[in-house]
Amino acid sequence: MFIKGVKYIEQCSICDEIRRGDLILEQNYEYVVYVCRRPYNNGHLIIAPRNHISLKNSDPKIIKDLFKICKNCIRLLSEAYSPHGFNIDIVQEPHVAMQIVPRWNGDASFVSVFHNTRVIAEPPQMTLRYLRDLSNKLGIRLLGGL
Ligand SMILES: [Zn+2]
Repeated sequence: MFIKGVKYIEQCSICDEIRRGDLILEQNYEYVVYVCRRPYNNGHLIIAPRNHISLKNSDPKIIKDLFKICKNCIRLLSEAYSPHGFNIDIVQEPHVAMQIVPRWNGDASFVSVFHNTRVIAEPPQMTLRYLRDLSNKLGIRLLGGL
């Protein structure tokens, strides 16, 4: 979705994902939620403002909105995968974003530990379809309430 006036930067992986758009789960004029192309675990989501802006240059409203969206994502991911917990990471530079990674007890297998490789059971496109269908079925709006 091209938005007039939104600043996109070349060589920024988040801007690239917004431009590509094929893994976007939900979006509005300010934010996008997309499935990570190289997930650490099934259900790995990224939330970002559409504008290319760093954490240090962000308006506090953006940080507040990211946490609201994060809460909605956790609700959806909990319904979808029943994880034992989540890793939540804030990317500061060059494009502020939050990553949400569902975690399960024992999900660091010997392959991860000894071969520096992750085995993901679900490709990102399948995660996208699954989460899109589930959010519609349950009426969970990730960008609702902003
Ligand atoms: Zn960017």
